[in-house]
Amino acid sequence: MINNINKLRQNFPILKREINKKPLVYLDNAASTQRPDCVIEAVSEYEKKCHSNVHRGVHKLSYIATKSYESTRDKVKKYINANDCKEIIFTKGATDSLNLLASSLGETFKSGDEIMVSQMEHHSNIVPWQNICKKNGLNLVMIPIDNNGEIIKEEFNKLLNNKTRLVAISHVSNALGTINPIKEFIDESHKNGSLIVIDGAQAMSHMRVDVKDLDCDFYVFSGHKMFAPTGTGVLFGKKELLEIMPPYQFGGEMILSVNFNQTQYNDIPYKFEAGTPNISGVIGLGAAIDYLEDINIDKIAQYESNLLNYLLEKIIDVPEIKIIGTPRKRSGVVSFLLGDIHPHDIGTIIDKEGVAIRTGHHCAMPIMEFFKIPATARVSIAHYNTKEEIDIFINALYKAKEIFS
Ligand code: PMP
Repeated sequence: MINNINKLRQNFPILKREINKKPLVYLDNAASTQRPDCVIEAVSEYEKKCHSNVHRGVHKLSYIATKSYESTRDKVKKYINANDCKEIIFTKGATDSLNLLASSLGETFKSGDEIMVSQMEHHSNIVPWQNICKKNGLNLVMIPIDNNGEIIKEEFNKLLNNKTRLVAISHVSNALGTINPIKEFIDESHKNGSLIVIDGAQAMSHMRVDVKDLDCDFYVFSGHKMFAPTGTGVLFGKKELLEIMPPYQFGGEMILSVNFNQTQYNDIPYKFEAGTPNISGVIGLGAAIDYLEDINIDKIAQYESNLLNYLLEKIIDVPEIKIIGTPRKRSGVVSFLLGDIHPHDIGTIIDKEGVAIRTGHHCAMPIMEFFKIPATARVSIAHYNTKEEIDIFINALYKAKEIFS
């Protein structure tokens, strides 16, 4: 359990600031998490003392930069329990990882093959697949959800067939908070001979992820949702799959030799890392993993689970509140409506109280369509939030109600 929350909060400088003359209550963690001092300092130290381009240099500074950059690969490997550093590809974020996969894998599928995507996916786990399907004559199949915001397991099993080449499902829904039973989906997909990619953007800073235990083929996530800088992300892929996949972008480190007749590509992971990477960002990602390892992700999960229960207890007492998505297993993401107040108005009013939440379709328009609503307000917690902050948020909701009554 996290014992000294006040001390922990001291590590996040932004949490000390005021917004609209009120202490910031940051409850928009599903959109992006804040950075602790150790991440800010790692990036700053690198920029001040160690910057140089990686991999190709023979000089000392390039060696230092390369060593720091590559050490993150090892940290990620250990953090998600991958088999090999070669299975860790650095990207710009979850969206970039999914685009890489869709583009590369899409080339290996043939007309008539099917890609299955759940109805609760973020646009980043729909549109790249939709695009490659259109381009290559593949079929995109939607796995429906139920009124609780859970993927319908029976439908999933029914839809799997001998044309299903790939299944793409989120670990945790960013719009509903649903924690999907991904192990079951992975096992079923494999029994059917299909590959499966898990979008872990909303899981990484909240729960232990063990790709070996899950046995997923691919797992993607973003650095900025796990206390690291923006513009960083990871594609984990099983080595034997990455090795046979064609490259996505061309130039720079992904090349071994070039002449005007032909080009020889580098081995994984570099085959998928064209151009000069986000060196400082990746070093920041390494520091974020050190931070998470230091606290222990299981302690974070336990703390957040208590905080989520407190949030749910309080929010259901607010008159005319309607929670969108009532899954059996959920993370600290709660979407809601408040009477007939437009979600944007809720967000704007509570911002005056210093409370930051997100409103809109959360890049999950098919979910909004399913629930027949244009938008929701969404509160999302991290391990640095407190019960006092939840109280401020709830009071702000009462104020919003008062203004609109
Ligand atoms: N998938 C999910 C479930 C997400 O929540 C997000 C970000 N909201 C993404 C993918 C895309 O992440 P990014 O914008 O960092 O690429």
